[in-house]
Amino acid sequence: MVSPSAATQSARTVPLVLAVLGYRHRLRRRDRWSRPELLAHQERALRQLREHAYQKSRFYHDFHEGLSSAPLSALPVLTKQTLMESFDSVVTRPGLRLVDVEAYLAALRGNELFQNKYFASATAGTTGRRGVFLWNFREWVQVVASYNRAFDWAGSTAGLTHRVKTAVVSSTNPSHQSARVGASIHSRWVPTLRIDSGDDLGTIVTRLNAWQPQMLIAYASMVRLLAEAQLGGRLMIMPRFVFSASEVLTDSTRRLATTAWGRSPYNVYGATETSGIAAECSEHAGMHLFEDLVITEVVDADNRPVPPGEYGAKVLVTVLFSRTLPLIRYEMSDSLQGAARHRCPCGRPYALITGIQGREQESLTFPTASGHMETVQPIVFHHLMDDVQAAGWQIQQTGAGLEVLLAQPQKVDPSRLASDIRSALAAHGVVPPPVHVREVKASRARR
Ligand SMILES: [Zn+2]
Repeated sequence: MVSPSAATQSARTVPLVLAVLGYRHRLRRRDRWSRPELLAHQERALRQLREHAYQKSRFYHDFHEGLSSAPLSALPVLTKQTLMESFDSVVTRPGLRLVDVEAYLAALRGNELFQNKYFASATAGTTGRRGVFLWNFREWVQVVASYNRAFDWAGSTAGLTHRVKTAVVSSTNPSHQSARVGASIHSRWVPTLRIDSGDDLGTIVTRLNAWQPQMLIAYASMVRLLAEAQLGGRLMIMPRFVFSASEVLTDSTRRLATTAWGRSPYNVYGATETSGIAAECSEHAGMHLFEDLVITEVVDADNRPVPPGEYGAKVLVTVLFSRTLPLIRYEMSDSLQGAARHRCPCGRPYALITGIQGREQESLTFPTASGHMETVQPIVFHHLMDDVQAAGWQIQQTGAGLEVLLAQPQKVDPSRLASDIRSALAAHGVVPPPVHVREVKASRARR
């Protein structure tokens, strides 16, 4: 017997899946656009978004006052702080209040909608104020389709028209967007096992062995642990597609995963605020930005554009399909590196990004021999720490130098690691500080 709530949920799933399929058709056509066609679409979509925001959002009416025909680059930057403080006047429908959305999220158990109409998610951020975002049905179709595009590009028709057994090792908190997307399209077409990435590795391995997924989706650090478990003979799965999301996918993790499963993982970049932003095509030549859905400006700390080939300090995103909570030049702390060239052998018109550094990770600053301060990006540490066998790690800068915290290290020589880190810093032109390596309980180090 089907419970009333399950019946309601599946009644909601069918129109959503059909709408996503229809929208996917449109997205596929855009893959064949020329670059000028893409840019013309972007300009038109931006104009429509701004007209909507100026008419319906009291906040944007004031925030962009006198700038309604100014170029995007002249508009003020919207921080998460401002967005959350002004939430009730940013929204374009009267009667949507942050306090009510927060109460709804706190009580959320499955796929119930806010006011029977809106999908809502909160960011998983560990620092600062959490962000809350809201979409109506039409917007949610585009959210789901944007994530689905990554599967489509990899050549997997996953989830919507063919039964593809999927395993997602991620957050299972229902207020997080990835769990929400999964819950809203969960159906007999999408048999999905969701495992919490916080579970112990032995349990995750056992459940994956029992499920035998054809498609595996996980954070990069989890892809690495699972690839190691596969190579060590404990994990025995044969996924046809492996997707790495939300974190830095280093060359070393990519190599391990390729050895473990016989094919290269696909890197996917998404965020709650924007949904899918970029994904790899089968060329694996970087990630194509979803420029038809989101305008992504790579900028320095002062919001000035950063040239291709260099890492920015953050990105400013404009979500072209956002209507309930319009996002125009919204600031996110991700550090991206644009590719020097646009063209990819696949022929898609979207620009490529060749590097990404995770959010909420600080770059560290060190003095040089000549006395000025130089920034060292987190990726430098990622490359080194990737080869360290530990369940997790964290690097903290203190007055005394660098503290390297390791959880469950195996065969790690602390003095050797300290000297490798010092050499890498010296190679980046800074004076290496003292480095101390020590073991901590797992919960203090990031995985
Ligand atoms: Zn391509």
